[in-house]
Amino acid sequence: MPIISKDISKAIALLNDDKLVAIPTETVYGLAGNIYSETAVKAIFETKKRPLFNPLIVHIPNLDYIENIVSYMPEKARALAKAFWPGPLTLVLPKKDTIPDLITAGKATVAVRVPNHPVTLELLGKLQFPLAAPSANPFNRISPTTAQHVEDYFKDKIDMILDGGACKNGIESTIIGFEDDHPIIYRLGSISTEDIEAVVGKIPIKNKKESSPNAPGMLNKHYAPSTPTVLSANILEDIKKYTDKRVGLLAFNKSIEDASIYHQIILSEKGDLAEATAKLYDALHQLDHLNLDIIIAEIFPDYGLGKSINDRLQRAAYN
Ligand code: AMP
Ligand code: MG
Repeated sequence: MPIISKDISKAIALLNDDKLVAIPTETVYGLAGNIYSETAVKAIFETKKRPLFNPLIVHIPNLDYIENIVSYMPEKARALAKAFWPGPLTLVLPKKDTIPDLITAGKATVAVRVPNHPVTLELLGKLQFPLAAPSANPFNRISPTTAQHVEDYFKDKIDMILDGGACKNGIESTIIGFEDDHPIIYRLGSISTEDIEAVVGKIPIKNKKESSPNAPGMLNKHYAPSTPTVLSANILEDIKKYTDKRVGLLAFNKSIEDASIYHQIILSEKGDLAEATAKLYDALHQLDHLNLDIIIAEIFPDYGLGKSINDRLQRAAYN
């Protein structure tokens, strides 16, 4: 069993020794290792069963530190970093030669962010190196938002989970790349498109159907429960198709009366999208542990964080 602990010095000792530590962030828990340690970075890919073509996000302690990671920063990238760091915004920028190819999957660009979590910021401030930290879940599974989720996934496969409580935002960072200095959203996430646009103006979203996605977070199937999942814009109607099934329901703000519902989770009774986002993955984890035949997930309003939730639900339902 990994140690679930708040002991930052213990985490530092393990990371200095090329080991992995699961770390809390405001988005989801990450599986962290020294970006310059080949042993640690290989262990990240092996532990997650993550394909080597899927690059890792580099976590740094502050904006100034980015000089060590990227070779060039367009003006709009700097504006976004100033507006949202520390925070759930990942920038994809040309990498310095010193960034190992294993981190970037051989790409000339590197993904980087400053996470907004007091425990991990303290950790990063005390380390002599940045941390590569993809989400601490096996490839294609639901991302973990509590230390317990990480333990359920990895049991004896990692040494330590640094406990920082439940993740406040609850879904992955918004990833932004640049083409000819113009920003493009590679992955919808924890910061809404509207909030990004308030800083840099209208911004396109990369088409997720492209065969060679720039961000594998854009792969169609991702963040998925093991239970078959369907999306619904009209639950009262769609639920009639599953009368003989053990049904789990994931709803936005209203509960539903129907005999075939075995369990339902309302993400935000007051209809708050940020609250719903924060609870989304824990709700999927819970439903996935109930031996259901099917999860019916309600489609969210298509604005603000509702767009990001719908993106994750579509991937959860993709087969
Ligand atoms: P995860 O940490 O599991 O949420 O995944 C990190 C995401 O960042 C993946 O979807 C990566 O593909 C994306 N990413 C990392 N590096 C790059 C890069 N150089 N170009 C585009 N996307 C990247
Ligand atoms: Mg992930």
